Amino acid sequence: MPELPEVETVCRGLNAVTPHRAIVGGDVLLDSTIAHPVSVADFLTGLQGCAIDRWQRRGKYLLAKLIRVFKNPQKFVSGGYLGVHLRMTGQLLWCHSSDKLQKHTRVRLFFADDRELRFVDQRTFGKMWWVPPDLEPPEAISGLRKLGPEPFSEEFSVEYFAGQLQKRQKSIKTALLDQAIVAGAGNIYADEALFLSKIPPTQICSHLTPDEIDRLRTALIRVLQDSIDAGGTTFSNFLNVEGINGNYGGVAWVYNRTGQPCRVCQTPIVRVKLGGRSSHFCPQCQHRSMTHYP
Ligand SMILES: [Zn+2]
Repeated sequence: MPELPEVETVCRGLNAVTPHRAIVGGDVLLDSTIAHPVSVADFLTGLQGCAIDRWQRRGKYLLAKLIRVFKNPQKFVSGGYLGVHLRMTGQLLWCHSSDKLQKHTRVRLFFADDRELRFVDQRTFGKMWWVPPDLEPPEAISGLRKLGPEPFSEEFSVEYFAGQLQKRQKSIKTALLDQAIVAGAGNIYADEALFLSKIPPTQICSHLTPDEIDRLRTALIRVLQDSIDAGGTTFSNFLNVEGINGNYGGVAWVYNRTGQPCRVCQTPIVRVKLGGRSSHFCPQCQHRSMTHYP
């Protein structure tokens, strides 16, 4: 599943190719991909004639600000937003119109000069929205309303993080996956951040010490930034907009390394299920003595 670094990588890739290009048409091959408006025809009509200003990422959502250009007299007005969520297997690929259509292509957006943005999604959980100019994105995209702060933002302070964790009785791994606490952290980076901060994934949030919370916050920001710097991961079938795989995969500390030796202490990495998701950790490096409990 694409996580924050992959979505950020896609966002940067889109900003390198689509800005100031006008959408001249489109084709929806799977109606259920369009989450808003209800009518697929309204989705395409809303986008047609709009130019993409810039893409931004919020959590794992991609939002393109749209500008509608009028000639005679020339004026520029808001065209709303194009929203995309890749979910499990979604990919946005920047193609030439003559490129062979990829299997599982769900939506095609046509641009001038025979270029095309294709939304390819094998599992079909991915969604697209056109947010009309009279709505703010969270009014049309309900998932945006529940998102906590971005990990790189000032709002994600150690005081905020501690306040969120100290009142919760669930495992820290489950809390890290809760998008209302911090936006965009998924399974891979939660496991990696817990390893780097030497905290077992099963640890109950309210039992974490202020020092552990500080370490965890720092580690989470670090693993996300490192992966963005590496262009996303190879853990899933992630592709950037040019169709190239990321390269963070070779350096995972624990994620998907069940039974393999810990890169620090050689103890085999263990996998446990928490909240229905697999968690990978080193029972030695992430051991927490009971004497540390309050
Ligand atoms: Zn270890």
